[in-house]
Amino acid sequence: MGLIIQKFGGSSVADAERIRRVAGIITDTYKSGNDVVAVVSAQGDTTDDLIEKAHEINEKPSKREMDMLLSTGEQASAALLAMAIEDLGYPVTSLTAWQIGITSDSKYSNARIKQVADERLRRELDQHKIVICAGFQGVNKYDDITTLGRGGSDTTAVAIAAALRADICKIYTDVDGVYTADPRIAKNARKLNEITYDEMLELASLGAQVLCNRSVELAKKYRVNLEVCSSFKQIPGTVVKEDVKVEKMLITGVAKDNNVTRISVIGLEDVPGVAFKLFSLLGQNNINVDIILQSIGRHGTKDISFTVASDNTQIALDVLHESYPNNVITYDENVSKVSVVGSGMQSNAGVAAKMFEALYSVGVNIQMISTSEIKISVLIDRSDANKALEAIHDAFI
Ligand code: ADP
Ligand code: ASP
Ligand code: MG
Repeated sequence: MGLIIQKFGGSSVADAERIRRVAGIITDTYKSGNDVVAVVSAQGDTTDDLIEKAHEINEKPSKREMDMLLSTGEQASAALLAMAIEDLGYPVTSLTAWQIGITSDSKYSNARIKQVADERLRRELDQHKIVICAGFQGVNKYDDITTLGRGGSDTTAVAIAAALRADICKIYTDVDGVYTADPRIAKNARKLNEITYDEMLELASLGAQVLCNRSVELAKKYRVNLEVCSSFKQIPGTVVKEDVKVEKMLITGVAKDNNVTRISVIGLEDVPGVAFKLFSLLGQNNINVDIILQSIGRHGTKDISFTVASDNTQIALDVLHESYPNNVITYDENVSKVSVVGSGMQSNAGVAAKMFEALYSVGVNIQMISTSEIKISVLIDRSDANKALEAIHDAFI
């Protein structure tokens, strides 16, 4: 008996039958004597459909209006799920971020949660109601609706779990846990019973969308007990925690990120301060840069290539064209970043060589490389990404 937060992703609430199944999971948990707060995503591909709809009307809609539109997906599924629970005869209420008091900063489309008020939630729970919350949304200081970035319902669930000091936060999704690679791509991927917050954070940040990276950040900060499990099969999932009992593996997993664009600025002067000027310009425009590659200067010039998140491609190109009118600027959106992750690699030489050998064995060319103590990433052609992920996975795991 305790307080349980359950989060159901888009595919888990995609249609009426699935909503009824989720209502069954929630009411079973409630019947066993627990307080339950459930967080829901928009149904199926609703968020993508709404984005498409917006672009039919306006090619560059304001982010404020986009958030106003996208937040409706989660509000609709919260109400529908509450109706399914009503139909089963249980006391229930659905709430938006506004009603709960989930405040965020003002970065429309990618806002960060500042605080989750607990009064309304506790009041509903004190009246023995099941509470259904719309995920992915917040309210900023102007009383406007914001959204938390793609996959943001995970963050809503963990933030609510932290605010209410819940016993556990269970993320129900369409796979039965966290695997050593996306099980839809790597057929030999293995399910992990446990994973540390740090390794999960690294995997999520490098593209494993099974959990949104901010939700893992929050879970680590507030020590939220987190479990990823299936909404279709009743079997134990993957527990995300501070320390795992099992012997540390060299590699925890392999991740792929398609949300990346490579940009190159050609023919820059080969003198001190050039990189500083370029990356300051991008920083001032809030454009985060990931992998960087600078060519060796020849005949007084050099080239600098770097990657940005795909949604920053246009703004990056705009500011570069304005500040570097005399340079050739190229970009490639058909790239992916594939990474191996694992704290075990710190004390193990040869991980890079093994990864590159795996890529060579399937004929994949590497465009850029970046390394840190616990990961190695390569930038490759997007059409090669799935076979590269599988080859690297099978070489290590
Ligand atoms: P939801 O709609 O429930 O939030 P998501 O689509 O956001 O679900 O996340 C689940 C998906 O994450 C899975 O269907 C799987 O394809 C993908 N995925 C990527 N990497 C991994 C991984 N390492 N382990 C499990 N699933 C992964
Ligand atoms: N509906 C949002 C998305 O598709 C948020 C979420 O599902 O977590 O990104
Ligand atoms: Mg998700």
